Amino acid sequence: MFEQALMETEWRELAACAGRVDDLFFPVNESDFARVRAAKAVCEGCPVRAECLAYSIETGQTEGIWGGLTSRERRQLRRKWKSASRRAS
Ligand code: SF4
Repeated sequence: MFEQALMETEWRELAACAGRVDDLFFPVNESDFARVRAAKAVCEGCPVRAECLAYSIETGQTEGIWGGLTSRERRQLRRKWKSASRRAS
């Protein structure tokens, strides 16, 4: 049920980035700190940030800014979650 909800994408309609046609959220180089910072500023006020982040991790999105995190930050978060999950079991 939860996984099905994650896969649903109605939350995108409420996204702060909805309708953007620029590539702000998919910087070619994540070392472009000004661009990454600008994208994160939009995410900061987004009402569906948690859904966006969960969706990106659940579906293995490897590029771009999702839920206010870069791909590298999402990989780190995914590792922390897996590590916490192993300790809990
Ligand atoms: S968290 Fe950021 S990338 Fe995700 S939907 Fe909101 S504004 Fe878009």
